[in-house]
Amino acid sequence: MTETNNPKIAIVTGGSRGIGRSIVQTLADNGMRVYFNYSSPDDSDARQTQADVEKKGGFCQGFQVDILKQDDVQAFFKSVLKQTGAIHVLVNNAGITRDGLLPMMSEKQWDQVIDVNLRGAYLCTKAVLKPMIRQRWGRIIAISSIVGISGNAGQSNYAAAKAGLIGFTKSVAQEMASRQITANVVAPGFIQTQMTDDLNNTQQEQLLSRIPMKRMGTPEDISAVVRFLSSDDAGYITGQVIRVCGGLSM
Ligand code: NAD
Repeated sequence: MTETNNPKIAIVTGGSRGIGRSIVQTLADNGMRVYFNYSSPDDSDARQTQADVEKKGGFCQGFQVDILKQDDVQAFFKSVLKQTGAIHVLVNNAGITRDGLLPMMSEKQWDQVIDVNLRGAYLCTKAVLKPMIRQRWGRIIAISSIVGISGNAGQSNYAAAKAGLIGFTKSVAQEMASRQITANVVAPGFIQTQMTDDLNNTQQEQLLSRIPMKRMGTPEDISAVVRFLSSDDAGYITGQVIRVCGGLSM
């Protein structure tokens, strides 16, 4: 695709808060028109994301679409495409944890985590490939975790889903490379969001002692890398896993 003045269209899953909100903000700051989804029936977080973006003169729109509902996901992508005629960037960010040691882990805990983190990415990626192939330009970015590389006690479901997301994204990278569609993975370490607020003080202190940079990451540490990977400058990078973890995993 040649550069035009038309703004690029980005979709961010799970954009209502945390890392997703920062990605929405960053891409909108960069001039993209950003559409995002989220799961909670309470739309206050999504409205906050939208207000933050609009305050800085950007455009974003949020939709309550459960990533597990295939028909709703397809309708969401269809309606964005109808409005915009193109989708240039997809960020597979939506994710959940349901932690527990394996002997105690229920099938429900297992299925929920695999479904949101991995099946959700499959559904959304499938939905953007046709328009990206037509455009001969696309950027697919998955938010995995260093836990998907190293494993983590109490998170076998999450580690399996995040490792699966890496294999999935690398396969998409191989299938799509000749069409100028790149697919890469960002693997965060421990990032200060509502997801990690659940850790108690002792767990947080133990964690910090293991991080060479001695601080948790911020959502902006992640969205800065997503911004680069979604740009024209990153056009020769595909199938890569970039760890953003203060040195926790090397
Ligand atoms: P968060 O809980 O603050 O936000 C998660 C987002 O995903 C929300 O917008 C939520 O509505 C959305 N979501 C959850 N289930 C959904 C569903 N069924 N359908 C649609 N949307 C759904 O989480 P976060 O900390 O911002 O994490 C974002 C991503 O980064 C996740 O994939 C997470 O696994 C990954 N990650 C986070 C950390 C961390 O330390 N916070 C570390 C590594 C990876």
